[in-house]
Amino acid sequence: MFSKTMTAKRAPGADALAREPRYFTTNELIGIAIALVAAHALAVSYTYLLFHSLMELSSIAVAITVATIAINCRKTMTNQYVLVVGTSYVFIGFIDLMHTLSYKGMGIFTDYDYYAPQFWIAGRYLESLSMLGGFAFAGAHRRVPMPVLVGVYGAVTLALVASILHLKIFPVCFVAGEGLTPFKVISEYIICALLAGSLAILYAKRAQFDRRIYRLVQGSLVLMIAMELCFTLYVSDAMSDTFNELGHILKVGAFYLIYKAVVVTGLRDPINLVYRELKASEASLLEAQALAGLGRWEWELKGGRWTWTDEVFRVLGVDPATQPSLESLAGAVQEQDRPALHRGLQNAAETHAPFELLLHLGQDEGAIRFAQMRGEFVAGGHGEPARVIGTLQDVTINQFSVESAEDMVAWLTPTGHFAYVNRAASTLLGYSRDELLALRASDINRTLPPRAFAEQWQSLKATGTLRFETVLTRKDGSTVPVDISENHVSYGGDEYNVMFVRDMTAHKEASAKITSLKDLYAALSHTNQAIINCPDRPSLFEAVVKIAVEYGHFRLAWIGMIDDETQDIRPVAVAGPGADYALDLHVSASPDSPAGQGPTGRCVRASQYVVTNDCPHSPITKPWRDRQRQFGFHSAAAFPIANGGRVVGALTLYSEITNFFTPELIELLGEMSADISSALDRLDLMVANRKHQEELRQAVDILERSNTELERFAFIASHDLQEPLRAIVLFTQVLERRLGDSLTPEAREDFGMVVGAAKRMRLLIQDLLEYSRVNVKDASFAPVALEHACRTALENLGETILSCGGQVTVGELPTVSGDGIQLMQLFQNLIANGLKFHRPDEPPRIHVSAERQGDEWVVAVEDNGIGIDATDQDIFQIFRRLHGGDTYPGSGVGLAICRRIVERHNGRIWYESRPGQGTIFRFALPAE
Ligand code: ADP
Repeated sequence: MFSKTMTAKRAPGADALAREPRYFTTNELIGIAIALVAAHALAVSYTYLLFHSLMELSSIAVAITVATIAINCRKTMTNQYVLVVGTSYVFIGFIDLMHTLSYKGMGIFTDYDYYAPQFWIAGRYLESLSMLGGFAFAGAHRRVPMPVLVGVYGAVTLALVASILHLKIFPVCFVAGEGLTPFKVISEYIICALLAGSLAILYAKRAQFDRRIYRLVQGSLVLMIAMELCFTLYVSDAMSDTFNELGHILKVGAFYLIYKAVVVTGLRDPINLVYRELKASEASLLEAQALAGLGRWEWELKGGRWTWTDEVFRVLGVDPATQPSLESLAGAVQEQDRPALHRGLQNAAETHAPFELLLHLGQDEGAIRFAQMRGEFVAGGHGEPARVIGTLQDVTINQFSVESAEDMVAWLTPTGHFAYVNRAASTLLGYSRDELLALRASDINRTLPPRAFAEQWQSLKATGTLRFETVLTRKDGSTVPVDISENHVSYGGDEYNVMFVRDMTAHKEASAKITSLKDLYAALSHTNQAIINCPDRPSLFEAVVKIAVEYGHFRLAWIGMIDDETQDIRPVAVAGPGADYALDLHVSASPDSPAGQGPTGRCVRASQYVVTNDCPHSPITKPWRDRQRQFGFHSAAAFPIANGGRVVGALTLYSEITNFFTPELIELLGEMSADISSALDRLDLMVANRKHQEELRQAVDILERSNTELERFAFIASHDLQEPLRAIVLFTQVLERRLGDSLTPEAREDFGMVVGAAKRMRLLIQDLLEYSRVNVKDASFAPVALEHACRTALENLGETILSCGGQVTVGELPTVSGDGIQLMQLFQNLIANGLKFHRPDEPPRIHVSAERQGDEWVVAVEDNGIGIDATDQDIFQIFRRLHGGDTYPGSGVGLAICRRIVERHNGRIWYESRPGQGTIFRFALPAE
């Protein structure tokens, strides 16, 4: 997406180099033509000697040049064959010089006439053998051992010169008047053959030769062969005929071609190669610089002249026609970077400190670009002035990745100011880039005042990196949970805290949703426990707000109760890190008060929860907005608390996270407040119950006291009454006896009546005494065999049974825990009644039996008596009698005693009866 294609400017002349060069330039060809004509003119117009000397000297000059170039360029020469041949030319040239000097007519070597042709042949042998032998080094991989080569050539040359000049053993080649000796003719052919062989080898090894060198060497060999042939043909004794002339011209030509080959391989090719490589690397450097957006600049300290490469103009976005200057550089840079730019340059100039800067380029925020500028001082020397040089590189693409990052990236200075913020910072915090650059870290991180920032800077510097979670405040006051990782960096001599800030809202929301719901479930169960355990309202409210803060992670939870008089909602329990918020908090339930327009006031009036998920912007939290901002509250929710069906207060909760109250959370908190409401009702009920219990206990106390009093009274009364009664009976009987026969039968009957009444009264009193004693008797229970108790009762009733002709049968009876005497009394009373209330025509038949029913024994005393016809009367009440009078004597206490005994044994007594047929009395006692 960001890749760009750049075409590097080609170095000038590169195209020319790329073309195959021509063998001869036009000028060269014209020069050769003029030289040929001039040489011929010389030969014809003047003496042949002059022509010969010039030709030979020319070829010698060429040979020396060839050798000089070859030896000097030996290191760069790629063609070793040309090097060997070229080197040999210094010796060939020397022998040719000897040939020229000894030429007939030169007058130097006058002692002997044969030198010139001998040197000639010697030179040609040396030349042709070199041309042939050179192939031994044709492979580029073999380097020519120069000292050995020069040594060998030197020795051979010396030997040749010595054999001709001093030893005179070199065969004679030309005899004036006789012409060429056979040696010379044969030698010329041998030389031709050697050259032809060289030609053949050259052809065979052509692959190892550069095409042009191949052609030049080939041409030279051909010319040499042609030259040799010319010299085999001349016959003139003056050695100055046409063939000789042509031969010499060909020689110059052959030498010239070798010269060209040496120049090509020794000079032009390497230079071209170096030049080409230089140009290619210059081109690739330019290309690389263009691709990297890297420019070079220079600032001469004396005179203040600036030099910029094209790339600097391009990176800065400055018109290339502009004169480079500090002003145009600063003009391209955003204002905030200018002080650092001036400082960096000044430091470099004065203290020679290198600098590195990240510059913001472009004034439009949308099209912002970034350049990295590096610079360092360079001292002057060799007439050059001192200067500051450096590079300027477009790093927009690198920076673009930072710019387009989703996370906020910011550079903070040690004072906590923003030096750089990316685009994501504006998106995250709602400030423009410029606004942010004017702020400090503490403006967006309220938890980090400047002093704390300084401390954090030190620990960051020590550790290099820091990572933590915090909450940042946006421009609009809302907060955002973030994860910050900070890195301490040194850049351009300054220190920075490079921080990466990740918005954790989504993450927090997701995890908060899960944890808060999970925790809220826990909170609910804890609330329920509190409801069960807390004995009163204050402890319940206290527990609930603590649970809400601990498990619901609220900043504040408070419960307020409505003051019925003032309608104010007064906090009765407060918990959470923001608890101080509730101090002096004025909230009202009244619809007319401004303090009644908040979530809590509305909630208690509507008897429904009220949620504000964005406190800083909600109109209903307006009166408390500043205070809430101070405490970092962003969401609030109030839930009604009812008691006895009437709203009496509210549970209000605050979170630092915007949109904290999700529907799920609201539902759970709604349940929580409903639980609190039902707990209040339960507490009321408990209070009422306790009151009732207390009243009951008091009543029981009174009853027990009065019962005791009554029993005491009955006991004392019956006990004390017996004494006077006994006296009445006794003294009535004494009086009756004393009066004796004086008594009339009526009076005697009256006396009998008194005694009878007194006896009945005594019986009554005794029964009453018995009744009152049932409870006071020894309360210790023991296992009682009911059958034994029943038999004892029957024994006691023996006379009565006999007198009435009754029959009592007893079934199998169990053993129970109880008071043996009282249980015997129970049987006795019931059986006595069965015997007493019998039908006149039927003798009493009584059957006693027992039956297990659940955990009770139910004992039945069944008779065939008169039955009981009084369903609406409680016959177990004391003194209650259905059959009074003389027919059925009694006190009406018997059954009352029975009930008391049974109840004392934790049992029940009842009866079933069919009047005229009989009655069944049943009593149930707990089975053991
Ligand atoms: P008393 O036997 O001294 O009258 P009780 O308390 O024993 O007093 O009995 C109360 C009354 O219940 C009796 O007066 C009688 O009317 C009635 N009653 C008790 N037992 C029987 C019975 N087995 N058959 C019929 N009536 C009975």
